[in-house]
Amino acid sequence: VSEQTPGTPIPAIPAAIYARISRDREGAGLGVERQEADCRELAAKLGWHVTDVYVDNDLSAYSGKPRPGYRRLLADIDAGRYSGVLVWHTDRLHRSIVEPEEYGALCEKRGVVTQTVKAGLIDYTTPAGWLQARLLGAVARYEVDHQRERLKRKSLELAADGEWRGGRRPFGYAADGVTVVESEAAVIAAAADIVLSGGSLRRIAADLNARGVTTSTGRAWAPREVGRVLVRPRNAGLRQHQKSVIGAAKWPAILTEDTWRALCSLLGDPARRTSPPAGRRWLGSGLYVCGVCGAPMLVSSTTTGSGVHKPGYRCRPTRGHVYRDAAAVDGFVTRAVLARLGRADAAGLLAAGDQRPDTTALHTQAQVLRTRLDELAGLFAGENPAIDARQFAAGSRDLHARLEAVQDRIARVSQRSALSVVAGVPDVGSVWAGLDLDRRRGVVDALVTVTILPGRRGRLPGGAYFDPAAVDITWKA
Ligand SMILES: [Zn+2]
Repeated sequence: VSEQTPGTPIPAIPAAIYARISRDREGAGLGVERQEADCRELAAKLGWHVTDVYVDNDLSAYSGKPRPGYRRLLADIDAGRYSGVLVWHTDRLHRSIVEPEEYGALCEKRGVVTQTVKAGLIDYTTPAGWLQARLLGAVARYEVDHQRERLKRKSLELAADGEWRGGRRPFGYAADGVTVVESEAAVIAAAADIVLSGGSLRRIAADLNARGVTTSTGRAWAPREVGRVLVRPRNAGLRQHQKSVIGAAKWPAILTEDTWRALCSLLGDPARRTSPPAGRRWLGSGLYVCGVCGAPMLVSSTTTGSGVHKPGYRCRPTRGHVYRDAAAVDGFVTRAVLARLGRADAAGLLAAGDQRPDTTALHTQAQVLRTRLDELAGLFAGENPAIDARQFAAGSRDLHARLEAVQDRIARVSQRSALSVVAGVPDVGSVWAGLDLDRRRGVVDALVTVTILPGRRGRLPGGAYFDPAAVDITWKA
């Protein structure tokens, strides 16, 4: 850092002004002249020296139309011509959520500071500055979306807007995107049911393919494709723009919003995979616990004296405190669980453990929070915002966190317990036989804690190796 000699004027920061005329702000009289004049006034206050003005005429709001002025500005920033950029508001500079990313990265690289007349300093060299820039981008997007709604009042046109238009027909709906195809809607509802009670996408895909049910383009189902269809907002009668849900759609829902949110929360979980991870192909792997150290037990194979690979439960891959033949323990636990579920009072297990709370109150809460977010954005939008960027950032962070928590609770209470499939059904044995491993594991997990105790070595009197007394089954309350 070079020190300034006293008395020497600090060299003025070379700066550019960017102005854009658009229809984004109706009747605000925001001509380019006005934007430029305000920016020059700000430059004078900051002691910046404006050398160039870049202008785009962009009357088609959010058209994605190229902006030559903006591109030249970026090139000149990259060439190191400026240390500062002046704009009236960030929404003049950026029309989408992605643009600030490119712009910010460039400013960060070149050490360029952006000053706005309406939103103050945007400093891309700090995380706080980035956050602010992204929030401003989100607000601009909010305004654009609302403007589009005003422009396109014809609701069917809006309903037809989005993911499927000009592309493939959405599974569950006819080619108009609005009429429900009942047979396909039933497939979606059944698949949702299976996933929410612990079934796997792989099993659903295999089942659909076996039944000759194809995707909307006539192809066979892959597990990933089943998941993609299940998490579509359109299933809940919601309209989507880019990645966010922007309101009620004009087509009928196939699933309730609860069910859809529960699916999103389940399938959005990165821990969940379409195929079971290695080592999870047994009823109790990761569920049974070691009677010595309490660690979850996993299955690994040992080679016996006769060269046979025998899978067994261990609390650690090598040695471990206890080891037990996997097939024998699973058979024992299965018999115990089925015996319990076959008893007359089995339906009571469900009543105690699977009471689903009413989600109406949670939905009301979520709706209130969404409305408050809208109101907050309203306060920050427009030519003379009632709150500043910092207040907006703090407020929306808080509201978003609370909304997420409420949505999370809605999703969780909507996940059906795996138990609901087997508790109180007449012939539990045949129902069990039809369940895939994921769902069986769900039932075991809901009903019992299985502890593998150290057992004696060698055969028991009578010749068997497996000692039921060394497997403790504790029923969950
Ligand atoms: Zn152990």
